[in-house]
Formats: sequence, structure tokens, C-alpha cells
Amino acid sequence: MKRDPNCVFCKIVAGEIPAKKVYEDDLVVAFNDIHPRTPVHVLIVPKEHIPSVNAVAPEHETMLGRLFTAARQVAETTGVAQTGYRLLVNTGPHAGQEVYHIHMHLLGGRPLGPMVAR
Ligand code: AMP
Ligand code: ZN
Repeated sequence: MKRDPNCVFCKIVAGEIPAKKVYEDDLVVAFNDIHPRTPVHVLIVPKEHIPSVNAVAPEHETMLGRLFTAARQVAETTGVAQTGYRLLVNTGPHAGQEVYHIHMHLLGGRPLGPMVAR
């Protein structure tokens, strides 16, 4: 699997910097966001370094599909499956992407308000 030695999420995947992992399997890892925006704020990342949706290719489909099955399990274990949650993938400057290792935010634990700022 490709990795980027300067990427913070590749370092979390490799266990080189700490994170509160809430889920892990052969293809993805999920851990608590370091600056949570909501009571439940988990990041779900593929173990391979894919910088953003703009770099997605057909060979990533199995790994990226796993983000959703992991999300379902994280929603159950964090207690938001029934109350609801939002899955979010920021891509590029207008979306405010900060970390260029593709990741899915799982946000929940309170009503989340409008989908985007007006
Ligand atoms: P995005 O704007 O979609 O790129 O979001 C990046 C997210 O990564 C932000 O919500 C950050 O708080 C989070 N983040 C950055 N560094 C870490 C880290 N070392 N551990 C956990 N979350 C992080
Ligand atoms: Zn990476």
C-alpha cells in the first residue's frame, strides 16, 4: 500500500503518532478527531495514502467502499446509529480540506443543523 512519509494520517495508520482508534480492519482505520466539532466526531481513513477524491481510481473501490461499512459499525459503537449522523468528505480548497489523505468525517451526537453554511 502506498504511503507518504510526511502525511499525518499515514503516521496514525502506522502507529507512529497517537490517536484514539475506535475501529480498525485490514483496509481502514477510524479514530477520534483531535478537534471534535460534535459530541461524536470520528475520522475514517483508508490505510493507503490517497490524497483526495480527485486522486480516486477504480482500484481503490474496495478500500473506499469499506469506509461505509466501517462507518456503519462506528455509528453503532458510538451510539449515534438511531439518532442519526452525517458523513462528510471535504475535497480541495473550497471545502476546507486540511489533511490531504482522503478521510470520511462521521459527525453526530446532537442535531447537526443545515447541511452547509449559506
Ligand atoms: P479536513 O478539513 O476534512 O481535511 O479535516 C481534517 C481533520 O483532521 C480536522 O477535523 C482535524 O481536526 C483533524 N486532525 C488533524 N490532525 C489530527 C490528528 N493528529 N489526530 C486526529 N485528528 C486530526
Ligand atoms: Zn497519508
